[in-house]
Amino acid sequence: MYVTQALHRAVQLDRHRPMTIFGDRVRSTAESADRVGRLAAGLRSLGVGRGDRVALLATNSDRFHESLLGVAWADAVVVPINHRWAPAEILFAVRDCGAHVLIVDEGLLATVATVREQVDLSAVVVMTDADAPAGTVSFEQVVAGHVPMPDSRRGGDELFGIFYTGGTTGQPKGVMLTHDNLLASAWGSLATGQFVTPGGRLLHAAPMFHLADLATWVAALVTAGTHVMVPGFTPAGVLAAVERHRVSDMLLVPSMIRQLVDFADAGRFDASSLAHLIYGGSGMPDALLARARAMFPRAGFVQAYGMTELAPVATLLLPDDHDRPELAGCAGRAAPHARVRVVDHDGEEVPWGTVGEIVVAGDHVMCGYWQRPDDTADAVRDGWMHTGDAGYMDGRGYVFVVDRLKDMIISGGENVYSAEVENVLTLHPAVAACAVIGLPDEQWGERVHAVVVLSTEADVTAEKLREFCRPRLAGYKIPRSVEFADSMPASGVGKVLKRQLRDERLAR
Ligand code: ATP
Ligand code: MG
Repeated sequence: MYVTQALHRAVQLDRHRPMTIFGDRVRSTAESADRVGRLAAGLRSLGVGRGDRVALLATNSDRFHESLLGVAWADAVVVPINHRWAPAEILFAVRDCGAHVLIVDEGLLATVATVREQVDLSAVVVMTDADAPAGTVSFEQVVAGHVPMPDSRRGGDELFGIFYTGGTTGQPKGVMLTHDNLLASAWGSLATGQFVTPGGRLLHAAPMFHLADLATWVAALVTAGTHVMVPGFTPAGVLAAVERHRVSDMLLVPSMIRQLVDFADAGRFDASSLAHLIYGGSGMPDALLARARAMFPRAGFVQAYGMTELAPVATLLLPDDHDRPELAGCAGRAAPHARVRVVDHDGEEVPWGTVGEIVVAGDHVMCGYWQRPDDTADAVRDGWMHTGDAGYMDGRGYVFVVDRLKDMIISGGENVYSAEVENVLTLHPAVAACAVIGLPDEQWGERVHAVVVLSTEADVTAEKLREFCRPRLAGYKIPRSVEFADSMPASGVGKVLKRQLRDERLAR
């Protein structure tokens, strides 16, 4: 199966049904398909051939949706890029994937100035309602200037896109995902009956370039749902969109949920239409989850654990599981499409309850990292994706992710999971954000070091925080040193860049 197939079906089911809603602009399935066919023809006329990469740098909108589909329709490969990256990082991605056509939001033109200077692009397509700036062509001009071409896709085993990983642990890598990879994850997740509501209204509040949100996009598409887009995340914007469009499902990352629960005016909005709130992308502190559930008592909470390389879902914690206290901190069980195991260094499965590396197999496993055969061979062995995440499984298949292997601290021979220590620190009311890292230590090999951002001018000292940890953590896990910072370096989806924190402290 291929992704654009879903668009043809949606038109057949109901050509008048809204497919995208962006601000006041509503486009029906028929209109959307017509524009996608025109965009594909336009891309072809700009020299985009079969298998060519088209870079996409934009905030969420109906045009983002049309670009994803239009590139596939033209038999090309879409490369959505994190628009929060610095110009140099964007330049890296455009060069790395070898795109010659760039689709960019008007508001991001300044950001791509360096790219336009340094890369020989054949066309820059600008999403704008005004005239296209010099040297570019407007998205609307491309759409209006061509008649729709027939969909050129025939099967699902070719690349849909190249997706860069978050860059949390190192240089981002381009993950090659086929139509089949994405559809395996979407159909499998839908098969639980507790993912995106079939034919419902999905809100895109998390960035669509990120695979977490894209996974819900595919699921809504194949069930002929309606996509509501907001250009960026703000608590008021999200809640207003949920109320106004009677949104049934949305995906949020934990850093967004934190902003939502801290939003004082939330009570003014009616969010009763929400059937599912899907969250994931990084671990979610229990206390935050409890507050979020209290805020949306009628919504079914679904946690997804996965990664770009898995297109992206591996496990799901379903709504009923959320009511079981013994599953606090659990990432759920293998999604129907995924085979999940926990293994040791030799690839042997470890007993229940023992921490090892989480490995995943299935039709959703990427076909490799773009132009990085060595990294691919390292990551996918015998069909098993080695996630780099440490975790354990219980006797009924529930998976608990404890930390990234790279973030694990070995202090005095004991394993310390940074995520566990962070969970305890975030329970302290004065802690707004924190990161726990290992720093070299002569006596212990590594010592546990906490970097903390305080939420208020509260009178909190390092010693007080350590005291707070004492009844909650074993002695060797308590941070030996605590440092206060004004802010935390984070990736585009709000993950703390511990690699950067570590490097900065090592350089000092
Ligand atoms: P990079 O691979 O470049 O370092 P990244 O791993 O952050 O970046 P993503 O593919 O976006 O890029 O993130 C996948 C990772 O996010 C997983 O390997 C895991 O560590 C973490 N993660 C995702 N979902 C969850 C979850 N539900 N609970 C805990 N961790 C999660
Ligand atoms: Mg990763």
